[in-house]
Amino acid sequence: MRRICSFLIMVTVLCMLACPAFSEDSMQRIGIISAMQSEVKLLLSEAEIDRVDQVGGLDFHVGTLRGKPVVIVKAGIGKVLAAAGTATLLNRYDISEVIFTGVAGGVGDETKVLDIVVGTGLVQHDLGKLSNDGFEWFDGSDDIGGWFACDKNLIALALEAAVDTVGEDHVFQGVIATGDQFVASEQYVKHLQSDFNALACEMEGASVAAVCEQYGVPYVVLRTMSDKADGLAVSTYGAMVDTASDNSCRIVLKMLELMRDEQRPAA
Ligand code: SAH
Repeated sequence: MRRICSFLIMVTVLCMLACPAFSEDSMQRIGIISAMQSEVKLLLSEAEIDRVDQVGGLDFHVGTLRGKPVVIVKAGIGKVLAAAGTATLLNRYDISEVIFTGVAGGVGDETKVLDIVVGTGLVQHDLGKLSNDGFEWFDGSDDIGGWFACDKNLIALALEAAVDTVGEDHVFQGVIATGDQFVASEQYVKHLQSDFNALACEMEGASVAAVCEQYGVPYVVLRTMSDKADGLAVSTYGAMVDTASDNSCRIVLKMLELMRDEQRPAA
């Protein structure tokens, strides 16, 4: 009997060690992801952080923000790191929804630097076939996934929060194009506009979306324009990235304030 008891205790301890996030914390939380530190800096300074879980080289900040239970993570730049960070987040925590916050290049004349784009759809603009005839984009099959649609309720919430924060003249909704390139080319921006009807381009949104789709977790991508993805983009981005990052964070804070408590996990 004693042996069985100690065996059971050992198994329980081993199970707890194997999945610490669930053993320590089974609360449902809102997942907030960014690519860069500047894009979560304001959120982290406003949050009450209970603990930081280090997994796969990432810091998962677990706590509350505007009274809502959250996990905040800077996943890194580009599609690979964004997907890896999202998968770890969704694997390890009980996430009710994902909000991606960050900066992007504005596409077309409509969006100006510091304007907001709430993604309704996301597309991987660099997905396709490269042959002797050049690059040909394709959506392919379900196994590839070129296009993704953000959650309607989260889009509505993000739009309301954005209009409240920066005024409706600076808020847009539409397609965000994702690829593993910092776009700084008028010609490529025109292609993103004409072929995908994109309003913004960045390097993570569609891959976060792809992973959220796999896990069946609703998501929205929110971007403040740091540049215009044109020939001046590198210097505009350098000058504006911090302000644009903070603006996006302010909208996330407003979203959390606007979330009705009965719809959301309790802190
Ligand atoms: N300053 C970084 C590089 C940042 S890459 C360095 O040198 O290490 C740009 C980041 O901002 C990405 O996370 C991307 O999602 C977003 N972004 C802003 N403007 C962009 C643009 N014109 N094209 C693509 N991504 C852009």
